[in-house]
Amino acid sequence: GDNHPDFAAWWMPFTANRQFKADPRLLTEASGMYYRAADGQEVLDGTSGLWCVNAGHGRAEIAEAVARQLMTLDFAPSFQMGHPIGFEFAQALTQIAPAGLDRVFFTNSGSESVDTALKIAMAYHRARGEGQRVKLIGREKGYHGVGFGGLSVGGLVNNRRSFVTLPGVDHLPSTYDLARNAFSRGLPLHGAERADALEGLIALHGAETIAAVIVEPVAGSAGVLPPPVGYLARLREICDRHGILLIFDEVITGFGRVGAAFASQAFGVTPDIMTTAKGLTNGVIPMGAVFVRRAVHDAVVQGPEGAIEFFHGYTYSGHPVACAAGLAVLEIYAREDLFARVAAIAPLWEAALHGLRAAPHVIDIRNVGLMGAIELTPRDGAPGARGYEVLVGALKAGLLVRATGDTIALSPPLIISQAEIDKLTGILGGVLAGIA
Ligand code: PMP
Repeated sequence: GDNHPDFAAWWMPFTANRQFKADPRLLTEASGMYYRAADGQEVLDGTSGLWCVNAGHGRAEIAEAVARQLMTLDFAPSFQMGHPIGFEFAQALTQIAPAGLDRVFFTNSGSESVDTALKIAMAYHRARGEGQRVKLIGREKGYHGVGFGGLSVGGLVNNRRSFVTLPGVDHLPSTYDLARNAFSRGLPLHGAERADALEGLIALHGAETIAAVIVEPVAGSAGVLPPPVGYLARLREICDRHGILLIFDEVITGFGRVGAAFASQAFGVTPDIMTTAKGLTNGVIPMGAVFVRRAVHDAVVQGPEGAIEFFHGYTYSGHPVACAAGLAVLEIYAREDLFARVAAIAPLWEAALHGLRAAPHVIDIRNVGLMGAIELTPRDGAPGARGYEVLVGALKAGLLVRATGDTIALSPPLIISQAEIDKLTGILGGVLAGIA
């Protein structure tokens, strides 16, 4: 009826998705905390779209800024020339960035931000006469997008299966078992020493061959894995001792998600390079930004012989329309103090989520800021089936969640009210009670 299943025949991801074909669902409008589905149903947005619409949907200020920019300067190259709104946006970003990360490189997505960060790391070492430092260390279960760089350092094995990946990449062990701590609240207290595995990889490869370590401060796509207390600081210390750059992928955790502008501020550990996207423009215009420590920037743009030699950039780097959207978004974040709001409402979020502890199938609940995960027991012989069933059931009941395997991932817009938190967990509780 209203679901237009024939659409699925033309739009490639869906042509391969048997589950979607069996139960297609189209979202047609969005406003504030809600989507509207093709059949008219209101759907509470439990995922900020895809971890991106942090300020909520349908923000008139963003639409107006975009329309104005389209009529003023709709495009300008960012090679060999620039435009004021790009400078203005970069400067505004550095004002909320972790101290010292005051240079910005614009991209169009999280994947591009990751590729850019990895290339900046290699260029930095080469500029300093250490061009043999080209190896990269990611982490098991990490997600860094779908470019060949992010795919290579990423640690979700299924994503890599069909593809060749970069040589010279190794992975730290996951912190899944530490984060998956049977209903503990907040950050795991123990397990920081898991970071010492980096020493082993350095011994194996030789520090002089390693360019950078990249991790998500809180692993998102793996099912919300908060870091053990002290873990990120330990990575920082080891990287410093061996001249290795530390990259935080804050594509999900950036722009308020964990109760500060960036997770690095919430956890008190500053990387050398930080990747962002998603909440940068509230998800409404594709854009990413890479934040770079001044010394790294200066080395890279100087090059080994004092020549500018960082050959990298995209046609749409610093797109003026995206910059206009981003500036309007930063104004909303500031005016409504949304990052502090997350810190204030996080205890309610935590209490509501942990209220599902006794719901059927639930084996762990994790939360940090306004991120949450509810891990379910897999059904015998069908991993992921129960998670998908909850996704479908929740949609029918008017709630959008994300299923990563049998873990339900949650990341509502930062404007969520207590009543909406209760509604979200109420729907989830009902769905969990109703499935086999
Ligand atoms: N890094 C992280 C941590 C992400 O969560 C994502 C997307 N979920 C990406 C990179 C890739 O971003 P994009 O899909 O915009 O390329």
